[in-house]
Amino acid sequence: MACKLDRKTARNGDSENTMPILLNDFKAQWQDIASRALKAVDRVGKSGWLILGTEVQSFENDLADHWGLPFAMGCASGLDALEIGLRVIGLNPGDKVLTTPLSAFATTLAIIRAGGVPVFVDVDDSGLIDLALAEAALKADRSIKFMVPVHLYGHALDLAELARLKNSYGLKVVEDCAQAIGARSDGRPVGSVGEIAATSFYPTKNLGALGDGGALLTASPEIDRACRVLRDYGQSAKYVHTELGLNSRLDELHAAILKDALLPTLKSHTEKRRAIAQQYGNLIRNPKLEAPPRPNGSDSVWHLYPLIVDGNRAGFQNHLKINGVGSAVHYPRLISEQQALTKILPQGAPVFGPLTKAAIFANQEVSIPIHPYLMDDEVSRVIQACNSWKG
Ligand SMILES: *Cc1c(COP(=O)(O)O)cnc(C)c1O
Repeated sequence: MACKLDRKTARNGDSENTMPILLNDFKAQWQDIASRALKAVDRVGKSGWLILGTEVQSFENDLADHWGLPFAMGCASGLDALEIGLRVIGLNPGDKVLTTPLSAFATTLAIIRAGGVPVFVDVDDSGLIDLALAEAALKADRSIKFMVPVHLYGHALDLAELARLKNSYGLKVVEDCAQAIGARSDGRPVGSVGEIAATSFYPTKNLGALGDGGALLTASPEIDRACRVLRDYGQSAKYVHTELGLNSRLDELHAAILKDALLPTLKSHTEKRRAIAQQYGNLIRNPKLEAPPRPNGSDSVWHLYPLIVDGNRAGFQNHLKINGVGSAVHYPRLISEQQALTKILPQGAPVFGPLTKAAIFANQEVSIPIHPYLMDDEVSRVIQACNSWKG
């Protein structure tokens, strides 16, 4: 890899073996993208146009092509994309929304900001919302008409099954694709079953910007138009406000950098993540560590590489740290147990059935580094550090 030598000299003095392996390496990313990103910045500066111009439009077109959906609209964050999506598909205050307790808090926060009431069901062995339990919840409570499934860890939920639930129960769906850009389920892109796909360009995501950003994708021109009204104060024409909208615009600068410096390498970076995941799957051999299975039919993009630790999780993370390997937990506390929810749900959030498997992830999951700037010897060191843990 071209950046290899640069990276060694950049950290002069350190021997390679003592360089910590980070979960995300933004300095390595900058070395890779700097010249393209700086050219994009220069172009935007010279254009004299900073908000909602040709850079955003042009990035939106490239993103839609890349994703395989007809329309893409940039916005300020993944959180906003989810909120705008839910409002556009007709969520009204008090409507229930089926979702997962194991995700970024933003998934549920968006539901609440849109006026909805989250209803949590447990996850499956992969850590994604259990679609069989989701169906049981829909059968038990026919008033649930909305769903926000999350394609967690870069896995695609079973989209054929999601489509069946959507049709059988008359659901409107915003798919949370923040971790799963490019993932497919039996050949279908994530986000193609719901009315809307919401995604995030938070820097750690597979398509991460140099700051915050997000997008909504859809096959419907009407939905796309309605999202554009909401992202810009609810104006349908200049100074004509037909909705109570947000200020949720993707900046021209971010759009230009995403388009020129980040989107063009997403495919090869995804392949790199897949190759690392395959090595981890083949070579991590420790009876105390188990990789959760991929969902049926998922061609995953490996935003994260989760392991389930049988034993002392903090001890495992400390062992990794001593061996120079970064790690994190996704997620240590279930959303349904977050204190903030009591502000609108004083009795606690509605939960359908016990969240047994979600609790296993909350208590035993550890994510190990899988970013595209990992070098071969670093991948080997991660594997060694996992295999040498005695528990
Ligand atoms: C990151 C993330 C979000 C929120 O995106 P932001 O751009 O940080 O607002 C929502 N859902 C999931 C699953 C995420 O990983």
